[in-house]
Amino acid sequence: MPARILNGNLIRDQILSELRAELETLESRGLRPGLAAVLVGHNPASEIYVRNKIKACQALGLYSEKIAPPESVSTEDMLALVAELNRRDEIDGILVQLPLPPQVDSKRVLLAVDPAKDVDGFHPTNLGCLVTQRPGLVACTPAGILEILKRSGIPIAGRRAVVIGRSDIVGKPVALLLLHENATVTICHSKTQDLAAVAREADILVAALGRPAMVTRDFIRPGSTVIDVGMNRLDQAADVERIFAGQPAKIEEFRQKGAVLVGDAHPGDVAACAGAYTPVPGGVGPLTIAMLMSNTVKAARLRRGGPHGPR
Ligand code: NDP
Repeated sequence: MPARILNGNLIRDQILSELRAELETLESRGLRPGLAAVLVGHNPASEIYVRNKIKACQALGLYSEKIAPPESVSTEDMLALVAELNRRDEIDGILVQLPLPPQVDSKRVLLAVDPAKDVDGFHPTNLGCLVTQRPGLVACTPAGILEILKRSGIPIAGRRAVVIGRSDIVGKPVALLLLHENATVTICHSKTQDLAAVAREADILVAALGRPAMVTRDFIRPGSTVIDVGMNRLDQAADVERIFAGQPAKIEEFRQKGAVLVGDAHPGDVAACAGAYTPVPGGVGPLTIAMLMSNTVKAARLRRGGPHGPR
């Protein structure tokens, strides 16, 4: 049986339409959620991410503001900016796009964000809430992965989940979310021995390692669900031809654009072995921005009160 493709674009659209309904109710009470995105410098990837986040706000009808301090900004300037955003009532979410320039102490800046406005879910207070299962703002990509699983009807409770990657923004939080859904969770990393054998035990395999197409068929238990978080840009013809052998459309896309995206799972192997999987692009990626919108609306509701009042 062909593997089921878990279409992130459709799930994103579902979430956004639910948010639209909630926004109408908030607006009828005079509340328009607002997001401030702080972008320092001219990192091309960061510029694209911030542009897409602002576009998503505009499409949904959220207030948004892009703040672009100069590349030479100091830690003190950034702390003053964050303090100002913390004070402003119409700003519900503060997003500091990483990486910051080397002279800025990123950890101090992220710690300065009011946890009630920390829509990225990176603040230690929100991470602590996640660990202890208290209400809080959860990091967007991990939250999006849970939405994909739940809305696709993939059973989690009692299942074996293996997460490859232990970063603070993806691997660890997604492992905790799966644990709280009663999966039996194993977290793997670069020092894990016999990684493929551990991965093969998974009913749900989350690949968040940032290594193009490394998760091959020997990692995938036949019929399991594979969530591919990786977003790797391939710009070498040899890599594209090796990974996408037998997929002339991708090779043609590469010829036209000079680069293509690939996940951490091998695209041919995951389609052949998994029972269900998220494609790249069009899987986890669209959920990350949807969950940022969702967190901004939630932050507005919790902080300023809404139909359900502050919780
Ligand atoms: P990090 O680089 O912060 O973490 C990577 C993790 O993978 C580390 O824990 C590392 O282990 C582990 N790892 C690296 N190489 C191997 C290996 N060969 N074997 C086993 N484990 C390995 O990455 P992120 O968590 O930030 O991101 C992971 C991927 O997800 C990236 O491709 C990124 O682009 C993508 N991403 C996609 C998003 C989306 O919206 N779709 C959002 C965020 C990220 P160790 O700790 O031992 O070094």
